[in-house]
Amino acid sequence: MTFRELNISEPILKALVNKKYETPTPIQEQAIPVALEGRDLLGLAQTGTGKTAAFAIPIIQQLDQQMSKNRKREIQALILTPTRELAIQIDECFRDYAQYTSVRHTVIFGGVNQRSQVEQLQSGVDVLVATPGRLLDLINQKYISLSHIRHFVLDEVDRMLDMGFVHDIKRLLPMLPKQKQCLFFSATMPVTIANLSKSILYKPVRIEV
Ligand code: AMP
Repeated sequence: MTFRELNISEPILKALVNKKYETPTPIQEQAIPVALEGRDLLGLAQTGTGKTAAFAIPIIQQLDQQMSKNRKREIQALILTPTRELAIQIDECFRDYAQYTSVRHTVIFGGVNQRSQVEQLQSGVDVLVATPGRLLDLINQKYISLSHIRHFVLDEVDRMLDMGFVHDIKRLLPMLPKQKQCLFFSATMPVTIANLSKSILYKPVRIEV
């Protein structure tokens, strides 16, 4: 299987050549076609399996193809992740894979001054990678609206719950539009996560690697 056979667009294929990725990993092979169809996904995968590209590539491709020149930029994809380190890594993936597209992205996390993050947001982005606390904080200050989100990723769901983010997630969910694509990734699937997934995901395709 090649990335081309997964129907990935030319600008992204070009970026993957730069990354020296030769073939898709198993999670990418299974998740990319499902995500490109717009379906919800529940992925059981550890870090190191290539799961970031498995959600980033289809999101970039869908946004890039729907991009109209004159529209005002609104945040259309939200990636929630538990830690600053993961948030930065995911944002770097978006930078790399989206380098030949018109998709713009940024990252926000706590523990640092918010000013440069707010400036980035105000310059207009399509994709926002965030940790829950800073996200809620900037929403409360009206720097962020989630009303245009069409793709919602919860990454490392098990770690999010372990770190006590369940209340933050439950506060954020009602702020998202009803109609959206949800992509959830977790290394483990205890009952709490299975139940959370059931209440949020619509007919998800379950992928295990
Ligand atoms: P992740 O599981 O998303 O944290 O990715 C783990 C590492 O694998 C990262 O350094 C990626 O750059 C790399 N990677 C992801 N997909 C591929 C691929 N198809 N071929 C080679 N390396 C990859």
